[in-house]
Amino acid sequence: MHKQSPQALLIDMDGVLYHGTQVLPFAREFLNAIASVPHLFLTNNPIATSAQVAEKLEAMGLCSADSSRILTSGMATARWLANQLPSFRYFAVGAEGLDAELSRHGTADSEHADFVVVGEGVGLDYASLTTGINLILKNGARLVSTNPDQTVDAHVDGRHRILPGGGALVAPFETACGCKSVTIGKPEPLLYEQGMGQLGVSARRCLMVGDRPDTDINGAHRLGMQTALVRTGRFLPDESWPLQLSEPDWDVENLQELLRAWRKVWPEWI
Ligand SMILES: [Mg+2]
Repeated sequence: MHKQSPQALLIDMDGVLYHGTQVLPFAREFLNAIASVPHLFLTNNPIATSAQVAEKLEAMGLCSADSSRILTSGMATARWLANQLPSFRYFAVGAEGLDAELSRHGTADSEHADFVVVGEGVGLDYASLTTGINLILKNGARLVSTNPDQTVDAHVDGRHRILPGGGALVAPFETACGCKSVTIGKPEPLLYEQGMGQLGVSARRCLMVGDRPDTDINGAHRLGMQTALVRTGRFLPDESWPLQLSEPDWDVENLQELLRAWRKVWPEWI
């Protein structure tokens, strides 16, 4: 017996709508079908700003560039920090996009930072690790990471590469300082909670669409959201479900199959 139709959707992008620069099958059809349902695109990736992600979606012909529909872990981190401490000072270790989001709410200050923020992308080196651990151990700054992924998939010069994820990059700080970071991205609750807050929907009436059982689906399930796994990303059609995780409400090969399944159960919805 399926639950009530959702009032809103949170949608992961990489592995759901596209891979690198390649649009996945049925992504456009899916976005057209759900156009009237309130939704946000959610990503653990803090490297690009919301405006850059919106431009990428438009360039791919997926939807018009509307950055208000994008929630990156970098944005969510900046908002969370502002909530903890208005006018916060930060030391960022990560890509330019992270700094761009943080600087909208706080001030970069490598001498007196309240927070050491570690995100994905270029930034970690001996000097930045040293600055960060001194801020934490001597000044009492808090360690925050944008996302806990161990690794991420990327296309570099046309080749598939596995890059270190946010979890791998924050680990040296945790080891040196003997502390755990506050983590914003999936499967931790903060990114989903900000998304649902922005859409004005409760977890029970919100559905997460994603490609990763351990992050997208696991975190959403723990919050009581409905979940849909599409097997077009990291998790392939022939893989068996990880036994330690709760199964998603929907487990499909692609977005077309998901639309068909939803229309069968909720014929009035989309
Ligand atoms: Mg994904």
